[in-house]
Amino acid sequence: MHDHRRLGRELGLFDTDPLMGAGLPYWLPDGAVVRHTLEEYVRDAERRAGYRHVYSPVLGKRELYELSGHWAHYSEDMYPAMRVGAEEVVLRPSLCPHHALIYRSRARSYRELPLRIAELGAMYRSELSGVLGGLTRVRAIQLNDAHVFCTLDQAVEEARAALELIGRAYADLGISAVRHRLSLPGEGGKYVADPELWRRATALLREVLDGAGVTYEEAEGEAAFYGPKIDVQIADPAGRESTLSTVQIDFHQPERFGLQYVGADGRKHRPVMVHRSVVGSVERAVAHLVEVHGGAFPAWLAPVQLLVLPVGEEQLAEAEALVAAAVAGGLRAEVAGPEEGSLGARVRAGRLVPYQAVIGAREAEAGVVAVRLRDGRRPGALPEAELVRRIGERVAGRGTTLWTD
Ligand SMILES: [Zn+2]
Repeated sequence: MHDHRRLGRELGLFDTDPLMGAGLPYWLPDGAVVRHTLEEYVRDAERRAGYRHVYSPVLGKRELYELSGHWAHYSEDMYPAMRVGAEEVVLRPSLCPHHALIYRSRARSYRELPLRIAELGAMYRSELSGVLGGLTRVRAIQLNDAHVFCTLDQAVEEARAALELIGRAYADLGISAVRHRLSLPGEGGKYVADPELWRRATALLREVLDGAGVTYEEAEGEAAFYGPKIDVQIADPAGRESTLSTVQIDFHQPERFGLQYVGADGRKHRPVMVHRSVVGSVERAVAHLVEVHGGAFPAWLAPVQLLVLPVGEEQLAEAEALVAAAVAGGLRAEVAGPEEGSLGARVRAGRLVPYQAVIGAREAEAGVVAVRLRDGRRPGALPEAELVRRIGERVAGRGTTLWTD
């Protein structure tokens, strides 16, 4: 594995500037491609799984976080409130309170449940500058978040489906979990007090984990302040673990916000809230992808998917035409021409690009290109249109397989 901070700079994915501030990285064009593609993947997977997407603001009134419990239990991770006239507003420490208000914005019937509200939205954490570096400890976080509002009977199935969605995403991204963890409360006033609600939520999460057949460890002191959670753990090159994905069952916030739905019996009931994140923070997910793949991203995520290499000046027009056709076909393609060095040097410089197409005099004459894959395979000469079609198929399938015969 590689250090994402060094590789991120070398590959031109992201960087920092002391004047923008510690823990506030910016994304360069190639990094922005990876991030955008990851975000679109997540939104698409969520749409297919029945989620509806929303946007909600990154600021909220202080009273909102007092109601959610963040003000009392989470304030050391929050930025100070900003006074605006007679109001105080806060950079949000999570998306949950906004989604609870969106649920509460109209009368809900049991027929609408489970109601799955998703958002890729910013949240802010007041990290000390001493622990900041790269994309893993940042002060502004783009979170892949969702909240499923459901009946008690639906909660286990919703949490189970979320865990499955996480597993599928890891396979498509070519990453893997080092362990699953059931995170429980520890000592101290960090957690809301209601032993019965904690006991019920923990029992349901155990049911989810046991049903999924995954082995897991329990960790005291790692729960959210409002409830226990399943944490999907990843490890960095030094073996340091962190949490990428989470699934939580929460009885507490529905109480705090007075959430209701009208049941089949015509009476009002309290929904359960399942909080879940498939890839966690986009920053941490990209950092992990960089480290695991060493910059050789799965083709669908790669900043450049096809590098076209004319052997000499005579094939430059042919190469440019292939790039134009590939771009028109939805691919990310570039020419590396003879002015960038010998053919061997250009092949090496493009070693992280999943597909290379070499065009010499013989290929130009025959209307084909010589195809080289990043993993060393050489599928041989193909007509240009056939190559664009084959790569397009692999990219649309969003898997980790580069080529099938
Ligand atoms: Zn939440």
